[in-house]
Amino acid sequence: MKTPSYLEDLSRLFYPHQCIGCGYELYQRDQKLCSRCLKELPRTHYEKAIENHVFRLFTGRLRLERGASWLFFSKGGLTQKLIHQLKYRGNTALGVYIGQTMGTQLQKSSHWFDSIDVMVPLPLNKRKMAIRGFNQSEILCRGLHLATGLPVEEVAVMRTVHTQTQTKKSRIQRWSNVEHVFDLLDTGHLENKHALLVDDVITTGATLDACGQVLLKIPGLKLSVLSLAMASRF
Ligand SMILES: [Zn+2]
Repeated sequence: MKTPSYLEDLSRLFYPHQCIGCGYELYQRDQKLCSRCLKELPRTHYEKAIENHVFRLFTGRLRLERGASWLFFSKGGLTQKLIHQLKYRGNTALGVYIGQTMGTQLQKSSHWFDSIDVMVPLPLNKRKMAIRGFNQSEILCRGLHLATGLPVEEVAVMRTVHTQTQTKKSRIQRWSNVEHVFDLLDTGHLENKHALLVDDVITTGATLDACGQVLLKIPGLKLSVLSLAMASRF
């Protein structure tokens, strides 16, 4: 249900509507970033080349049609602020806005979504879902849907094993840790489709790889991956 405008005006008296990036006051209700911060987003432009860093990260392990990340992630940078607001402050409206902006820019730049049939958000494990109350990848997909019109398939895969926190482990340990975490559910309608697996941040790519391997068991499925951000420039 849409909030009546007088209530929004009233709420702005108490909660000023500011740019997430710089704090500058915004005047449009649906805006989340000022035009300057929008321009300064650390874009990767990976969508312009098939052989980009995301695609190469998965070469030899995951059979991809294409792969891209929209932004670079750096500590203390604007991308981190956006992800923090979405994941840890529960700002889902921002998540939808980011997804929509990402979708619009990628499509405008390279018709990146042409030939993709459906989007699949990377599932969260049940414990995280219970704590957070939402899956950030699914929120991003809602915004991507607004930009592209592509349907979102949430129930194709599920995470079956809770993995230990991965931050303090070596790359090799992380790899083994996420193996066999995903299971396929009812996927008949994904057969012979081109699915786009969506995540928030790519670091080693291990989790996307594990989920992608499972999706590729669906007969005739073609797979691409997209993330909001990539953790390093390599
Ligand atoms: Zn700003």
